[in-house]
Amino acid sequence: MLYRVIDADELPALVEAFMRDYEVIASVRSGKSFAFETVHSFDEIVLDYPTTLTSLKKYLLPPRETLFEYDMEDGVTDYVLQVRPRVLFGAHACDINAMNNLDLVFDDKRYPDPYYEAHRRATMIVGIGCIPSDSCFCHLLDSGEVRSGYDLFLADIGGRYLVSIGSVEGANILEAACNPREATDADRRAFREYTRRRQQAFNPDIPSVQEIPMLMDAFHSDDFWEELGSRCLNCTACASVCPTCYCFDICDVLDPNAQTGRRERVWDACTSPQFALVTGGHNFRSGTRERVRHRMYHKLNGFNSKYGRYLCVGCGRCVHACKTDISPIKVLEFFERKGAEDAE
Ligand code: SF4
Ligand code: SF4
Repeated sequence: MLYRVIDADELPALVEAFMRDYEVIASVRSGKSFAFETVHSFDEIVLDYPTTLTSLKKYLLPPRETLFEYDMEDGVTDYVLQVRPRVLFGAHACDINAMNNLDLVFDDKRYPDPYYEAHRRATMIVGIGCIPSDSCFCHLLDSGEVRSGYDLFLADIGGRYLVSIGSVEGANILEAACNPREATDADRRAFREYTRRRQQAFNPDIPSVQEIPMLMDAFHSDDFWEELGSRCLNCTACASVCPTCYCFDICDVLDPNAQTGRRERVWDACTSPQFALVTGGHNFRSGTRERVRHRMYHKLNGFNSKYGRYLCVGCGRCVHACKTDISPIKVLEFFERKGAEDAE
């Protein structure tokens, strides 16, 4: 990995360089929270934001997307997805890890998804180091740091940024817009201090649990799931805000003229009661216990079995979105309680 250092006052020039050729999407203030939106000047951007309410997922997997259009007489219309080149500026490590997880699913060489690929190919990513908030637990799920999947990654080391370079395109834009220099020993010491400060900022009340996938299997039938699931309102807010929930439905939408229409892909959620409803009326996950357990299983066990990493990146968004306090943190707390009981 190549590292360079730029002064903090060079950052506006970097953003302006991106703006010449790319749509720049960054974190801005949105009411009492923060959201990723298209920006038109560096001054709109908030770089030291806590986790945004919604994630960057919508830029790679839109909530509703036309796959193709059709006409009853002319058949399927050729549909070419046009995506304007863009840069997601200021993504946190957990969110880049989340997009790396989506890549594993949609950029699969055997079953590539051309729509996802079109969005991904048109997207550059500039990450930024963060100081975690109380609901962040990315470090417990191997997502506190990111080693790939970005073009540039900035770490604020006090009046300057240590820039990790992840692509030639990113390096070229950095070189053209700023005066990047080699990192000195003082820069490296400042970076170590920054990582120490960041590590210490994680909420110590969120338990660090080892062997989570194994525990998910061991306690599959525990009453805990009944208790957790009984609180679920089926609102699907958790899946909407989650940067890694990627389930979708396919709908054919016929226009009122009954002649033309389009096939659309829309977000779906495994916490929705209809999600596992099949023809004939059987629902193979009919209760909230099964649905909530399934969601947690996929995040903390199933995805791991297939890809060797957790699907949950510990961003903490569902901690705030769920009105009944259901989140992976509750699962970690349950495992910690069980461990304490066994030790007695
Ligand atoms: S777990 Fe919480 S956010 Fe998710 S569907 Fe149930 S109540 Fe809604
Ligand atoms: S399950 Fe919750 S904490 Fe984990 S990635 Fe999704 S929104 Fe973030």
